[in-house]
Amino acid sequence: MSRLRVAIQKSGRLSEQSLELLKKCGLQFMRSKDKLFWYGKDFPVDLLLVRDDDIPRLLLDGVCDLGIVGENIAQEVMLERNGGSGLNCLRKLGFGNCRLSIAVPEATNAAQGEITRLEQLEGLRVATSYPALTRELLNKKGISTRIVELSGSVEIAPSLGTADAISDLVSTGTTLRANHLRELEIIFESEAGLFGSQAEVSEEKQQLLQLLLARLEGVIQASASKYVMLHAPREALARITELLPGVEHPSVMPLEGSDRIAIHAVCGETLFWEHLEALKAVGASAILVLPVEKMLA
Ligand code: ATP
Ligand code: MG
Repeated sequence: MSRLRVAIQKSGRLSEQSLELLKKCGLQFMRSKDKLFWYGKDFPVDLLLVRDDDIPRLLLDGVCDLGIVGENIAQEVMLERNGGSGLNCLRKLGFGNCRLSIAVPEATNAAQGEITRLEQLEGLRVATSYPALTRELLNKKGISTRIVELSGSVEIAPSLGTADAISDLVSTGTTLRANHLRELEIIFESEAGLFGSQAEVSEEKQQLLQLLLARLEGVIQASASKYVMLHAPREALARITELLPGVEHPSVMPLEGSDRIAIHAVCGETLFWEHLEALKAVGASAILVLPVEKMLA
C-alpha cells in the first residue's frame, strides 16, 4: 500500500506549527530512535524531519511527496536548481510570515551619501543567504548587483565592510535596527506552504493527497472560524446578519416565553471586540463566541 512521505523542519521557526497542523489533521506518529523518521500510525503518512533548506530538494529529487517550507526557500531552491519551477504550493498555511527586504546602513551623517532608492544599488555588493532569489528579483527591476553569499549573520556584513547592502528575512525589524540598518524595500513576501513536486504520482498517492488536503482545509478553516450564539429582538435579524463577518444564513430559533430569538452562526473571519460591541448596540445580548474544532464542507 502507498504511503506519503512529508518533510517538515526538524527544529526551527516552522517546526512546531508544522507538526501541530498535521496532528490536527488526525495524523499520529511513532517516533523512531534517531527521531528523523516518524512512522504514521493509523494513516499512511510518514514524516521526515530535516533542515528547512533540504525540503525543496527532497521534493525535487522525489525522496518526499510533500513538504512544509517557507515560500522563500522553495523559490530559492527552484531558481538555483530548476530554472524557477518544479514545485507547486498546494496550500499556503498562514504561519511563518516574513519578508525578504533590502536593507542598507543608516548613514551617520548626510555627507555619507545615504542609499535611498533601490536603483542606487547598481553594481554594489549585496550580502544574502538567498542569492538566486535576490538576484532574480533585482534583475527583474533592472538592477544588477554583486551578490555576496553568506549562510548566516548577513546583517553584520555591511559593518564588516564585506557588503554595501543586505537582502535578508525580516519579521519585526528588530535585528535590522540593532545592526544600524534601515529597511529600504520589501522584495518578496513569504509564508509557510505545503509544497509538492510537479512530477506525476500514482493514483493511490493522489487519492491520499486529496484526502489529506481536504482535512488540512478543514483544519485551517476551523481555526479561523468561531461559532457565535446570541439573543436578539426578531426585527434586528437583518442588521445582526450584516454585522457577523462572513455569515450569510444564520440559524434562527425562537426563545420559549420571549419575543426575542436565538441566533447561531459560524463566522469565517476574525471576530473582534468591535464586532461584539456593534452587535450589542443593535440589541443583541447573551453573546457567546466559541472555537470550532473541526469542519468538513
Ligand atoms: P534550519 O536549521 O532548518 O536550516 P533555519 O535557521 O534556516 O533552520 P529558521 O530561522 O528556523 O531557519 O526559519 C525558517 C523559516 O521561517 C524561514 O525560511 C522563513 O520562511 C520563516 N521565517 C519567519 N520569520 C522569519 C524571520 N524573522 N527570520 C527568518 N525566517 C523567518
Ligand atoms: Mg535553513
